[in-house]
Amino acid sequence: MAFCRASNYIGTMHDFHYRQGRLFCEGADVESLALRHGTPLYVYSRRTIENHFTRLDRALAPLDHTICYAVKANSNLAILTTLARLKAGFDIVSGGELYRVVRAGGDPARCVFAGVGKTEEEIRYALRVGIHCFNVESASELDRIHRTAVAMRKKAPIALRVNPDVEAHTHAKITTGTYENKFGIAYEEITGMYERATRLPALWLRGVQMHIGSQITTVAPFVKAVRKMLPLARALRDRHGIEFFSIGGGIGIVYRPALESGNHRWWNATGAIRPCAAGRAALPLTIDLYARALIPLLKPLGMRILLEPGRFIVGNAGILVTRVEFLKQTGRKHFVIVDAAMNDLVRPAFYDSYHQIVPVRRNHRAQITNRKSDVVGPICESGDYFAKDRPLESVREGDFLALMSAGAYGFAMASNYNTRPRPAEILVSGKSARMVRRRETPADLVRGETR
Ligand SMILES: *Cc1c(COP(=O)(O)O)cnc(C)c1O
Repeated sequence: MAFCRASNYIGTMHDFHYRQGRLFCEGADVESLALRHGTPLYVYSRRTIENHFTRLDRALAPLDHTICYAVKANSNLAILTTLARLKAGFDIVSGGELYRVVRAGGDPARCVFAGVGKTEEEIRYALRVGIHCFNVESASELDRIHRTAVAMRKKAPIALRVNPDVEAHTHAKITTGTYENKFGIAYEEITGMYERATRLPALWLRGVQMHIGSQITTVAPFVKAVRKMLPLARALRDRHGIEFFSIGGGIGIVYRPALESGNHRWWNATGAIRPCAAGRAALPLTIDLYARALIPLLKPLGMRILLEPGRFIVGNAGILVTRVEFLKQTGRKHFVIVDAAMNDLVRPAFYDSYHQIVPVRRNHRAQITNRKSDVVGPICESGDYFAKDRPLESVREGDFLALMSAGAYGFAMASNYNTRPRPAEILVSGKSARMVRRRETPADLVRGETR
């Protein structure tokens, strides 16, 4: 297994490593996969996914808890099946995601349904299959769920999503727990809203929920939000008999190696890729820290604790493999033009996010050149880039590169912009590699259209 000294950092343990200069995912040679299946190509490590889930599960063993994987991070059926086998619950945000969980063999009774705009059709579907809980985000939604449950002669399990008004100190587009955001119900209104819910007989008050944002890299915002929520959770438990408190997801992972600049190699003597060398960019949040900070707060509550991690489970478990099409020098800049684009992985364009870029076959003689490159895709948008001014080891046209930590919000956010078929997805387990989604064809893209 490939992890460096700082392997206790959250999400940095993964199964991508070099063997004699070739990048492997577990026991599978990445270049062979690229040659066989073409590029761009998503490659996931099943063992990494299982490890992340299991480590988090074990760290929280002192609490009565359920990990509900946030499906939107990566919703491939094979990944959902992998997690269903580990007895995961699921955090879903649409009827479509619920359908995926059911198709993957997940248990609907372990699904929590979030989102500010649930339609009647989605609510009916969720009631029909019997989910664990709706996480309700407004008074209007509460009424809609009640009306739908009455019409179906069912009782709808609900929790209210509290907006605790706590700053998560993450990117603006993934902050969800302040009063600037559309999510949840204001902390001050929660007590009144539960009172109102008790007067709606087709509702079953099961819990209370919060989710303050994504890619949170210190424990402080979690602690602050949990502390704020504790008296409320206790009061709601005593008054309404609710049984669980969901503390949401948002656990951040390491994307940026500390040694990214300067004349450093990307791997250490054992061939492990270094996403986590100690230094300025090292993540101060670890699973140990997270568990050590939260367990003493939550244990005395005596309620079941739900967690909704997405990125933490799959983020470092996937890479996007791409081929260098052309090298191009303009007046000022050096460009590495690759065959993947923002439609395949939109995070850099959308969140200014960083992905480590490593060669699939490393050249022992090659140096990291001082020349900095922009790694860009072929789409007609200036936002179509994966890296700017990045020092890369010299690459040649035809080489394969891997964009690391692309397992979360990668394929899940892919589109067909520029009529580009979405990539194939491969799930590796040991030496075996299984195609879990075939590459789309142009015919797939026009299906459903008429001339
Ligand atoms: C997106 C989301 C999550 C997962 O966030 P991660 O940062 O991927 O852990 C959890 N809960 C809710 C309600 C979400 O919207």
